[in-house]
Amino acid sequence: MPGERFGSFGLATPAARHAIQADDAVALLKGGSVKPGSLLGYGNGRSYGDSCQNDAGMVVDMRPLNRIRAFNAETGVLEADAGVLLSDIIAHAAPHGFFPAVVPGTQFVTLGGAIANDVHGKNHHRRGTFGCHVESFTLLRSDGRTYRCSDADNARLFQATIGGMGLTGLILSASIQLMRVPSLDIVETATSFRDLGEFFELAEAADQANEYAVAWIDQLAGGHGAGRGLLFTGNHAEHGSHAASHAGARLSVPVQPPFNVLNRPFLKAFNAAYRWKKGRSSAPRQVGYQGFFFPLDGVGNWNRLYGPKGLYQHQSVVPEDAARHAVPALLDAARRAGQGSFLTVLKRFGAVRSPALLSFPRPGFTLTLDFPNRGERTLGLLAELDRITVGAGGAVNPYKDARMDAGTFAASFPEWQRLEAVRDPAFMSSFWARTAKKLDVGRGAVEAAE
Ligand SMILES: Cc1cc2nc3c(=O)[nH]c(=O)nc-3n(C[C@H](O)[C@H](O)[C@H](O)COP(=O)(O)OP(=O)(O)OC[C@H]3O[C@@H](n4cnc5c(N)ncnc54)[C@H](O)[C@@H]3O)c2cc1C
Repeated sequence: MPGERFGSFGLATPAARHAIQADDAVALLKGGSVKPGSLLGYGNGRSYGDSCQNDAGMVVDMRPLNRIRAFNAETGVLEADAGVLLSDIIAHAAPHGFFPAVVPGTQFVTLGGAIANDVHGKNHHRRGTFGCHVESFTLLRSDGRTYRCSDADNARLFQATIGGMGLTGLILSASIQLMRVPSLDIVETATSFRDLGEFFELAEAADQANEYAVAWIDQLAGGHGAGRGLLFTGNHAEHGSHAASHAGARLSVPVQPPFNVLNRPFLKAFNAAYRWKKGRSSAPRQVGYQGFFFPLDGVGNWNRLYGPKGLYQHQSVVPEDAARHAVPALLDAARRAGQGSFLTVLKRFGAVRSPALLSFPRPGFTLTLDFPNRGERTLGLLAELDRITVGAGGAVNPYKDARMDAGTFAASFPEWQRLEAVRDPAFMSSFWARTAKKLDVGRGAVEAAE
């Protein structure tokens, strides 16, 4: 579409300068003469940083490929083009009693994007990642061939493409197994905790008893209030709605404010009001799925509230035994730096293994912080958060990132070279150029000197 912006959600990095439509990219790839590093699939730009960008080449808009091709209402297997949005999949399958087994915090992601980042949801402890529910997909590579990939066929490409951040080729379509649910509604309970110690006591039992569990932390609270928050748990209601409600935003931010609206005084007031409001209703209550899974989708373009410089998100995961010191250290570092995180989310990841070669989730606790971009000050804090994470044996999420250094990436994904080995030479992202390629060049220089 003319004039459309092919950016990433954080708005802190420039949008892609060149984009082509999926059909044109398919024709180019089938022709077999695409320049190295010139392409990268683009879903709906819901990645926060530059993993969905290719500054040196073009992004391929996959959204025009948006047909649901088949759905088996008995088994819940759905086959669709890669550009179909999760919101459309939900709308299609819900009346038949099915729901995606894994959904991230927004339903405005494409099927291809969900596979390429092997996204996770509030039920990681039970269902693992999105990739655990992918039966097969078709992948177009720059040799001009389309590969059908599954556990049994082209298994290496299957594993590398799930979580492969678009680097193995273009996913054209996929078959996924949906989950049977009694209704879309959720019976939700909010339990307040006074500090992180109390949260860690609650977390495992909450996972065992519930399909979904996630905690919200009041990151601004210090002193005795440090680490306080609310744990939200839920299960699908036995009796409730089967109709997907209108997926659009109820409110929208129409223009970009010239400054960051989500400043510290606002956050303090918001956190206090939110905690109070939610804290009252700790008895189970039945809620609609949109508010439970996708609360931020209710406000269109909310990322604009951060002003023209955008935001950085930092998502870390640390092993369970390190979490009791690492999570407080991460929160403390942000507080000491005087940087408020609008939404701070803490969750326990389980041990369900993904078929992916590289995947962010691993057993332990994952903390997500959103910071307005205040230039060097924020970058300095983020580097410190990286050090704490890596020092605790953890990992930083690449598809939420716009600035981690190559060393942090290598420590987070020691097996990155296995993806590089099957990367399609025609595909490159700004993230990969900034991290893995630097390591690769470094490795080449060492080898040459030996
Ligand atoms: C409000 C909000 C909440 C979120 N919550 C979560 C969460 O709870 N859990 C979580 O895991 N993530 C979460 N995310 C991140 C988001 O789910 C992922 O970044 C997702 O992968 C974005 O999908 P997309 O379709 O927008 O793809 P893009 O962001 O456009 O691209 C993502 C990656 O997929 C590749 N890609 C896209 N389409 C194709 C294709 N057809 N073939 C090959 N490669 C392709 C791109 O090259 C890129 O590497 C959240 C994001 C937002 C904005």
